[in-house]
Amino acid sequence: MNIVTAAFEVSPFAKTGGLADVTQALPLEWTKQGHNAITILPKHRGINVDEFGFKKTFLTLNVPMGFSTEFAGVWEGKFPNSDSKVYLIEHEAYFNRDGIYGNPDSYFDNDRRFIFFSRAIFETIKALEITPDIISAHDYHTAYTMAFLRSYYKHEERFSKTAGVFTIHNLAYQGKYDPWRVMDFSGFGMKEFYPGSWFEKDGVVNCMKTGIMFADKITTVSPNYAQEIRQPYYSEGLHGVLNQRGGDLIGILNGVFYDEWNPKTDEKINIKFSSDNLDQKRANKFSFLGSQGLTNNDDLDLPLVCMVTRLTEQKGIDIIRERLDNLIGDKKFRFAILGSGQQNYVEYFNYLKWKYPRNAIVNIGYDEWYAHNLIAASDFLLIPSRFEPCGLTQMYGLKYGTIPIVRSTGGLADTVDEYIPEKKVGTGFVFNNYSADDFEFAMSRALDTYYSAEHLNQIRLNAMAQDNSSVKQAIEYIKVFGWALEKFNK
Ligand code: ADP
Repeated sequence: MNIVTAAFEVSPFAKTGGLADVTQALPLEWTKQGHNAITILPKHRGINVDEFGFKKTFLTLNVPMGFSTEFAGVWEGKFPNSDSKVYLIEHEAYFNRDGIYGNPDSYFDNDRRFIFFSRAIFETIKALEITPDIISAHDYHTAYTMAFLRSYYKHEERFSKTAGVFTIHNLAYQGKYDPWRVMDFSGFGMKEFYPGSWFEKDGVVNCMKTGIMFADKITTVSPNYAQEIRQPYYSEGLHGVLNQRGGDLIGILNGVFYDEWNPKTDEKINIKFSSDNLDQKRANKFSFLGSQGLTNNDDLDLPLVCMVTRLTEQKGIDIIRERLDNLIGDKKFRFAILGSGQQNYVEYFNYLKWKYPRNAIVNIGYDEWYAHNLIAASDFLLIPSRFEPCGLTQMYGLKYGTIPIVRSTGGLADTVDEYIPEKKVGTGFVFNNYSADDFEFAMSRALDTYYSAEHLNQIRLNAMAQDNSSVKQAIEYIKVFGWALEKFNK
């Protein structure tokens, strides 16, 4: 199959969250499985084109934007250690900026940047003379590819049998914009914007809705989230739209790209380890704590509970902050966090660090290396999310024997099972209610297990044996692509 992946962030080139991990893993797996997968993203300023070996092509794109045409360049390269091709769309004014979406707040013209990029996808495909079977677009930034495909490009021979598949990574971000701008940039015009149209929701443009309505198939990142978002609590207002397209909405669990996240081979971590030599995991913890300035006088064996996360309301920090202070004060565990985001949360964690300089390790920022080392070194990984479409870190934790403590929501519920000591089954600690009491109880179960060598060993073995590979995920997507294409073969 010829598959074009369109995304605003793709690892290892540009990343703010799990979206980039998925848009890396999928094309890489498809390429390994024999498909012709190409990936297109903007040439953000932060991408080091020399390091990744990108070369500027001679192509110039003429990208229609409303009544005018804008021009863009194209850079060509590959994912590291793969033949899977990657194209960067170059536009000085739109993409040569410090941030991907903003710095620190969203750019005022994101609507325009997203429309331009979505339109440029098609012009790139034409310039490269590819005939795609599938355009796989990720999240609201690229949602307009679905509308452009159906409305403008399906009339061209090259796209006449191309199916559009739209993947929802997080419904909390929908792209709500001023219709006068977006309907103009996209060329559809205000005549297409009326109550109930595929572009409109609550009086404004809603990119997520547009992607959902125009796509041939819609996927989201876990089976449980696919069910949850049909309900008002989780749908962020789009349950009506999602139920309307319910027959075409499929949940596919995200997978882990184990070439990148495997404690046996991870070049980023201090000491490699596997389930055969778990004492090396302990050595990793000591080495990490040493690197943070702790010494043998600091009770290095205290359970280490970590978080690696964006600091937003979604991630459940409100419930843990009711209890963390006391729990750390009681020396129940040592806490470590790597995160960036909302200032109120940053201040809270800095306060913990000030109060417990040796038992609260706080790193505010974004740091890939630190993320790998922290996950490898910790005993537990805390993910108390209010909602979590899939979540990748719990799957990294499982692979590294770092036991997840999670709230049962979205993909967390699909990937972590409560450990049952009597049966010795399960991979983590799970609580249902979004409450501080339930969080604390799950913590106490986890800490009890830590002090039983037998059960600690067992739960780690269970966790490390779980296969959440992106290989499976990639195969599931191909099945959905097959269904999306069926209409052309009838
Ligand atoms: P989300 O996409 O909602 O942020 P996921 O769990 O799906 O959550 O993916 C988060 C990804 O971002 C993981 O790869 C995680 O390791 C990474 N990550 C999150 N915060 C940081 C950080 N501060 N530094 C480095 N990596 C981070």
